[in-house]
Amino acid sequence: MPLRRLTQGLREFQQQTFAQRRAFFAQLEREQRPKVMMIACSDSRIDPGIVLKAEPGELFMVRNVANLVPPHLPDQQHHGTSAALEFGVNGLHVEHIIIFGHAGCGGIRALLSRDRTEVDHPGFIHPWLNIADEARRRTLLIARDRPVEEQLRLLEEEAIKTSLANLLTFPWIEAGVAEGRLRVHGWLFDLHDGEVRAYVPTKNTFEQLTPELAAELSVLAGEMT
Ligand SMILES: [Zn+2]
Repeated sequence: MPLRRLTQGLREFQQQTFAQRRAFFAQLEREQRPKVMMIACSDSRIDPGIVLKAEPGELFMVRNVANLVPPHLPDQQHHGTSAALEFGVNGLHVEHIIIFGHAGCGGIRALLSRDRTEVDHPGFIHPWLNIADEARRRTLLIARDRPVEEQLRLLEEEAIKTSLANLLTFPWIEAGVAEGRLRVHGWLFDLHDGEVRAYVPTKNTFEQLTPELAAELSVLAGEMT
């Protein structure tokens, strides 16, 4: 009974966390002032708030299939992720945008393994995953002869790099980064060992995230453009 379990969870939240921190939640009720925006995957196993022990109000969050950022495309269509970016950057004035990818992503696996049948009957998932088509091409160029698991790991990284590049196609993100008001980051979480590896643009590699590296990237990311 999944909903019974969740309702029990709500009761525990109300009686424990909420009751003990009334002043904190009363302050949140008035406004949100997050400094960090995050684009994470919809995957049920990956909850950045829990992994990073974030407080309510700390992360302005978008979750979508495979944590992708589309390019800036102002065509009057329904762009949920782009709308959230606009509000996060222009409304809330976040200082950091983090693409929060993860190992073992089903969306990335679907992108890598797609066949003609899926392309001919696209539905919504494959057109969405096409955002990372260039990352797929780069991956196959580098790793076509390697085992599929290695290709997947590489594509997870390359897709994050594509999303970082796409962030900079939004003029108000590009301006924020150029002026040093806004920094963009690519992180990759691995359920296998609980580690996060962060993209280091100057080295074009992903390295284990430590407080020192995070501090270093907070400065360097402003020079990405
Ligand atoms: Zn995923």
